[in-house]
Amino acid sequence: MITPQLRFTPPELPAAIEQLRHEVRDFIAEERRNGFLPRPNHVGMRVSFDFTRKLAKRGWIGMTWPKKYGGHERTALERYAVTEELLAAGAPVRAHWVPDRQTGPLLLKFGTEEQKLKYLPGIAAGECIFSIGLSEPGTGSDLASLSTRADRVEGGWKISGTKSWNSNSHNAQFMIALCRTEPPGEDRHRGISQFIVDLSAPGVTIRPIINLAGEHDFNEVVLDAVFVPDKNLLGELGNGWNQVSTELAYERSGPERWLSAFRLLAELTEALGIKASASGCERLGQLLAHLLTLRQMSLSIAMTLQTGHAPNLEAAIVKDLGTCFEQDLVRIARDLINSEAIDIFERARLLGEVLDHAQLWSVIYTVRGGAKEIMRGVIARGLGLR
Ligand SMILES: Cc1cc2nc3c(=O)[nH]c(=O)nc-3n(C[C@H](O)[C@H](O)[C@H](O)COP(=O)(O)OP(=O)(O)OC[C@H]3O[C@@H](n4cnc5c(N)ncnc54)[C@H](O)[C@@H]3O)c2cc1C
Repeated sequence: MITPQLRFTPPELPAAIEQLRHEVRDFIAEERRNGFLPRPNHVGMRVSFDFTRKLAKRGWIGMTWPKKYGGHERTALERYAVTEELLAAGAPVRAHWVPDRQTGPLLLKFGTEEQKLKYLPGIAAGECIFSIGLSEPGTGSDLASLSTRADRVEGGWKISGTKSWNSNSHNAQFMIALCRTEPPGEDRHRGISQFIVDLSAPGVTIRPIINLAGEHDFNEVVLDAVFVPDKNLLGELGNGWNQVSTELAYERSGPERWLSAFRLLAELTEALGIKASASGCERLGQLLAHLLTLRQMSLSIAMTLQTGHAPNLEAAIVKDLGTCFEQDLVRIARDLINSEAIDIFERARLLGEVLDHAQLWSVIYTVRGGAKEIMRGVIARGLGLR
């Protein structure tokens, strides 16, 4: 018998959050008026260290973390509102995105006091950037088959191996690398550990990988006998698999899983305007209904994460549905542009440019943060179907 343990309880957003939402909107509008923001013709994220530092000054990075680590002790819902506004506006948040979303919570949960005091204030100030070192050239979906090794040496570890698709590591000071610390035994998930690797250390080589859109967003990072001191072991030796599972719930359920192509939806809606046919309105309405449902599911996970639980099953569902939504959006936008005869270049509209970019990026959505088929395997297992 199947006994699904799904928990989706979307919270009510307190009215006070609206004020914060407007603060973020006003800030973005002012940055745009002053010419500090790039043209919002991209989906996804761009890097601006200036913008990251300005957000940090306003207390919008590390929002929920304790004050003693540079955080601001705001609620998960407040953070959620800020995140939504930044993504919907296409703001350049790439620089701090991973450390704010993922590395900070990971350090808070598994880091030593020394690690928390050393790294978290820098992340919250927008100065300390981390990247995620999981995937390898021969290891993506089957992560437990990873071959990067950490061998014990006096005072620490020597790490050798290659990490690939490493987003933003060319702008980062550190990477959290998942490494094998014991040969694989019967349980391949044991004997894997996480280390904080200083990317300026001898033996580290970072090479760009140019994506389909011709952009330098991710990298190959070669670690050639890189020395890492004992104090840089993150969490418990051999427990890296469990730690990574917690981390992935943050990666898979946030608003970036359904808002990354939002600029396309916004431009499409504006271009359709009041002239849309009944079938055009219907298709747009379906997209919006999916968007709002995903939002409720994702909000529910944000609240569960705040309580210290890792809702991996629910996060995999949001990741899978979000991927489908974002890829459908591009396809439906293309259809509607044809069927509604929208001139995508009329009045210097951004629709054509955003569509071009979304076409190239939406291919990526299938695999980033865990491939579609893998998500469906996680969901099936969670529901007791396999
Ligand atoms: C934009 C982007 C950013 C990324 N950033 C990072 C990052 O910062 N750090 C990092 O570590 N990684 C990152 N990745 C890597 C990402 O996590 C991997 O691409 C992903 O896990 C898939 O691994 P793979 O590329 O090796 O593909 P593979 O695992 O080789 O999969 C290829 C295809 O085979 C299918 N497949 C594989 N195994 C099975 C199976 N058992 N059953 C059915 N189908 C299967 C997959 O679904 C997929 O369609 C990023 C990827 C992208 C696209």
